[in-house]
Amino acid sequence: MQILVVGAGLSGLTTAVTLLIRGHTVVVSAIDMPAVSASIIAGAIWHPFFQEPDAAYLRRAAETYSSLDKFVCDPKSGIMRRTLTEFFTTQLERLWWGSALPYARRIGATELNAPYQCAYQVPVLVADTPTYLAYLNEMFLDLGGRFQKEFVQDLGNPQMSGYDVTVNCSGFGASLLCRDRTMDIVRGVVIEVEKPAHFSGCFIDDSNQYRPTYVIERATDCILGGTAEPAQTGTHVDPSVVDDIMARCARLAPEIANARIKRCSVGFRPRRPTVRLGADDSVPRLFHNYGHGGSGFTLSWGCASELATLLEQVAERPQPSDETSL
Ligand SMILES: Cc1cc2nc3c(=O)[nH]c(=O)nc-3n(C[C@H](O)[C@H](O)[C@H](O)COP(=O)(O)OP(=O)(O)OC[C@H]3O[C@@H](n4cnc5c(N)ncnc54)[C@H](O)[C@@H]3O)c2cc1C
Repeated sequence: MQILVVGAGLSGLTTAVTLLIRGHTVVVSAIDMPAVSASIIAGAIWHPFFQEPDAAYLRRAAETYSSLDKFVCDPKSGIMRRTLTEFFTTQLERLWWGSALPYARRIGATELNAPYQCAYQVPVLVADTPTYLAYLNEMFLDLGGRFQKEFVQDLGNPQMSGYDVTVNCSGFGASLLCRDRTMDIVRGVVIEVEKPAHFSGCFIDDSNQYRPTYVIERATDCILGGTAEPAQTGTHVDPSVVDDIMARCARLAPEIANARIKRCSVGFRPRRPTVRLGADDSVPRLFHNYGHGGSGFTLSWGCASELATLLEQVAERPQPSDETSL
């Protein structure tokens, strides 16, 4: 099939590569090159931030984990294995998402400082996002994908624009393109610091939903976070926010306290009550894969492969005439 993918962030590029691997012809349309998408800011760690137990989420995250793990052996991919220690202020007998991982080691309250009641050590995957997006982009071009810089104004009827199918991976752009009122954005401040000598590991405490604390070790630096500020659109970072993030991270990983700050960034998580994945209800041959909130990296390959399977099943059925538009 000839497929148009709208969006060149983590979701759009992963979907495009998946469709190319399955033998389709793919063009990606996006306002900007991948290096300019919201995805570039992400930490990015494979982790279910603020996610309630959910079978579909777990299935997609598990598939993403095994897909990403294959990239670890290629240093150009920017994908790394890390040990995550996650701290909890309540007793937790098991991690609902632990079945996606090779192992999960529980640490009891006696080994921890207050206010923590338990912690889990698990093997996770981390992306150096600029490197990983460039790698995905190269894979996309090598597989024969074509990129066009374009502001898509109407998802309309894909057949009219010469494609068999359109896949909408426009992140927050979908709020306008689909008039999706359930979409919002959640602002996040992250700090990039130089990695202290001999430092290793990732650390998370997301017991405060507006001030998640995380230290993500990458190859030569660490990403520290953060904030989760619904409906905030400003890009200014107040120095008190930087101090607060540094102090919170140093409580989880004391070596971070004196790390040299390289840069502070602001990103926007494209959030929806649930990811929109599947065929559009009214426009034939239009599919969606957006609204991943703080989990776009964690769900990327699982969502892309589920979308590709759905698309192949639905698009091969005869379609009703398509006079409906969005
Ligand atoms: C601070 C921060 C930390 C994060 N940490 C993590 C983490 O640790 N783990 C994790 O899994 N996730 C994390 N995330 C979430 C993750 O970054 C997002 O879920 C993911 O980047 C969303 O990707 P996307 O491709 O759906 O959207 P985007 O990256 O926003 O891409 C949207 C694309 O659509 C294009 N577009 C939009 N409208 C149009 C239009 N009208 N016409 C043409 N093109 C259009 C844009 O140009 C862009 O290319 C974090 C996010 C932030 C902000």
